[in-house]
Amino acid sequence: MTLAVKHMPGKGKRFVERIYRLRVIGLALGFFCVASVFQKQDRGPLLWGLLVFHGFIWPHVARRAAHASSIPYRGEQANLLIDALFGGFWVAAMRFNVLPSAVILVMLSMDNMAAGGLTLFAWGLVCHVAGLLVGLAVVGYAFEPMSHMSTILACLPFLIAYPLVLGWSMHRISQQLAQQTRSLEQLSRTDGLTGLLNRRTWENLLAAEFAQCRTAGWTSSLLLIDLDHFKRINDTYGHPTGDAVLKTLAGMLREHFHDSDCIGRYGGEEFGVVLRGTTLSIASGAAERLVAAVRQNAQGDNPSFPCTLSIGVAQFDPAMRHHVEWLQKADANLYAAKLGGRDRVVIANETASTS
Ligand code: GH3
Ligand code: MG
Ligand code: MG
Repeated sequence: MTLAVKHMPGKGKRFVERIYRLRVIGLALGFFCVASVFQKQDRGPLLWGLLVFHGFIWPHVARRAAHASSIPYRGEQANLLIDALFGGFWVAAMRFNVLPSAVILVMLSMDNMAAGGLTLFAWGLVCHVAGLLVGLAVVGYAFEPMSHMSTILACLPFLIAYPLVLGWSMHRISQQLAQQTRSLEQLSRTDGLTGLLNRRTWENLLAAEFAQCRTAGWTSSLLLIDLDHFKRINDTYGHPTGDAVLKTLAGMLREHFHDSDCIGRYGGEEFGVVLRGTTLSIASGAAERLVAAVRQNAQGDNPSFPCTLSIGVAQFDPAMRHHVEWLQKADANLYAAKLGGRDRVVIANETASTS
């Protein structure tokens, strides 16, 4: 995400919202750590005012500022560095009280590491030092590292709750990422128009089936299906109608074949089906029934599917050395079906079974 959003205006809005929620919780909890020290040290109204601002008002200001910037992701990173500056400042203002200082700096660094990796973490360290120097300049140097029991207790909620909240937030992000990865994988496997397997995926599965046929010694069959005179449909009714016909055919193929059969869009108006564990005669029977069903739909005055099909069928042959030979054989049979007059199934070049 980091690289992708860096260069895109308007990107990172969800990032801002996520950090906003964490900041509201984290800074409110951090307020009590610092406040417990200030209370013992009897600090003035200016420091208290700044502490209230940082703990309860700044998260909302930061969110607005990030959304207002041209790249909210960048704006939010700047906010995180402002948090880091404040962190260093509070260390000086608390006179180096060890426990709350360590808790605050570790939590801020954890945020920076989670949000921007090593780079933001390193910039955060620089800002801690800068904030510390500003703090020393403003409030002066004093060293009171010991923590009272009240400070220890005030740090506990931050110490316990914030890592849990951050961990939960990271878990949700990783879940969303896994879901997105699954969707992308699904998208990369399917054809956008028909929802069938795309050519690359289908051909990979064909190659896997070919390898299995060779090793396991079983028989599968391959169908190459091509719409007849499809160009005429585009020319007569327009491209969108042609698209609708392709989608309808995809639906028919899904209905006609089993879930275990592997159906893909092999080319523009050409489809491939691998019938696993199926002999040539069973495969050609299935192909004949499909051609007949489509022909039925193409007849009449108002055809629901104004097109017929040609199909070339080829059975796996152990003599073949590569799955491409299997494809070539089915393609040659498809070509023979076209030459033979279309609207038919061919299972071998020389014998066309006309329906
Ligand atoms: P044949 O019977 O010999 O197969 O003739 P045909 O017209 O079906 O075959 P041809 O290869 O001449 O034309 C195929 C047409 O399929 C041309 C192309 O515009 C169309 N086509 C390919 N992909 C798509 C698509 O995604 N949508 C639409 N609407 N048309 C497509
Ligand atoms: Mg065609
Ligand atoms: Mg074609």
